[in-house]
Amino acid sequence: MDTGQKILIVEDEKKISEIVTAYLEKEGYLVALAETGEEALKALKGNPDLVILDLMLPDIPGEELCAIIRENSEVPVIMLTAKSGEEDRIKGLGIGADDYVVKPFSPRELVARVKAHLRRAVKVRRKIYSYNGGSLKIDIENHEAFREGSLISLTPTEFKILVSLSENPGRVLSREQLVTIVLGYDFEGYDRTIDAHMKNLRHKVEKNSRSPEFIQTVYAMGYKFTGTLDEE
Ligand code: CA
Repeated sequence: MDTGQKILIVEDEKKISEIVTAYLEKEGYLVALAETGEEALKALKGNPDLVILDLMLPDIPGEELCAIIRENSEVPVIMLTAKSGEEDRIKGLGIGADDYVVKPFSPRELVARVKAHLRRAVKVRRKIYSYNGGSLKIDIENHEAFREGSLISLTPTEFKILVSLSENPGRVLSREQLVTIVLGYDFEGYDRTIDAHMKNLRHKVEKNSRSPEFIQTVYAMGYKFTGTLDEE
């Protein structure tokens, strides 16, 4: 069983990278390994389908590496970290990681997340949706969104949230529902990180995030999309 999908593991702890590699290979993924940030930058030229990135590397900090990846690519990034604090999570997501796994972790759970992120990255539909007289456009197939005609740089997770909300106009999606959409399964404790994604998303999508046009917070309920689809 060969999925043909390439996963880059950036991790200097051999014990961890060996286990993760074994699990991923068993699922039919091709695995490339980088033990330093420098090696990772080289390996990224091979266009991996997903990156598993350790936060603590000997040369370049994982956060910095993630920011560098984000400048050039929308590849899903799952961060591995020993830091479990909320601040670190939000910091990680703020720099464009799509997901976070705290050490020690279950390799099975990591593989489940890898699959979920890849599944969504593959889903393609052909259509550009235009809202509020063209002020927001969403190109589903190319995973791109435009604000007043200019491309806005969204992480894959932010894009996923935007699409999920816009596909359910006027309907409130709870944080739990958004967690399931983003991760592919419900994961307790992830709802705070949804808020962090939402904050970033709004900054990018809204002209004024204090009086949002497109994404409204419904107190104690969740979020809803309030853009109006343009007639074709
Ligand atoms: Ca490490």
